[in-house]
Amino acid sequence: MVRFMNVSKSYGALTVINNLNFEVAEGEMVSIIGPSGSGKTTVLRILMTLEAINEGVIYVDGKPLTHMPKGGKLVPANEKYLRGMRSSIGMCFQHFNLFPHMTALQNCMEGPVQVLGLSKSEARVRAEELLTMVGLIDKKDEHPSRLSGGQQQRVAIARALAMRPKVMLFDEVTSALDPEVIGEVTNVIRKLVQEYRLTMLMVTHQMGFARDISDRVCFFYGGKIEEQGPPQELFTRPQRERTKQFLSAIK
Ligand code: ATP
Repeated sequence: MVRFMNVSKSYGALTVINNLNFEVAEGEMVSIIGPSGSGKTTVLRILMTLEAINEGVIYVDGKPLTHMPKGGKLVPANEKYLRGMRSSIGMCFQHFNLFPHMTALQNCMEGPVQVLGLSKSEARVRAEELLTMVGLIDKKDEHPSRLSGGQQQRVAIARALAMRPKVMLFDEVTSALDPEVIGEVTNVIRKLVQEYRLTMLMVTHQMGFARDISDRVCFFYGGKIEEQGPPQELFTRPQRERTKQFLSAIK
């Protein structure tokens, strides 16, 4: 579903992503772990087309992310093509960035109406289903300022899902939350894995959660995948020295 082929990204002299080859299969949940500065967030930002890459190609659902085929060649994509590709990817960040002047329901209806062209009644049905799924239908008419951090993050997940993305990206979605509400957000993500089999890529510092729900865990180091594998193997029998050091330092 997602494929990075020989992707590199630099900021000036600093190489942040270093010839990365990486795939996420349809329905797979992949977690990215690794030390601060190893390039984890950059991978997600590249997928959201928030950062341009210097080398390589990325495919999402078989289509190049930033280039479109024209006359047998790939040329830089136009705005319409990019909009289509962007709407196939949903993202939730550490800071939820809900629209403060809109209710939970309106937040979830806005994208489908404005970007996908759904009618208000279609968007409302979809938004209500998703707010029910994240356990917040009783809060649908509340504005974000009246919701707890965990509730806001669950609305943010519902809002991203309302666009029916092919891939969902999560970037440390629990880091800004109080410990007692982390579980309500991880339970929603767990449900997406277990019941919906959505294709997901998650950057997290919560090793227990990554271990629990991922099909595969990738340990990033220096802008590359240093080691990857099923969580039970990577966490219990890491092969690479850097993985061992990282895991023993955070235990
Ligand atoms: P963390 O766990 O701390 O969030 P990370 O693994 O997600 O770290 P990234 O945010 O991907 O790391 O950053 C990778 C490197 O790229 C870091 O050294 C960072 O300082 C650098 N970097 C990120 N964005 C920019 C930018 N816009 N300009 C210059 N350097 C940047």
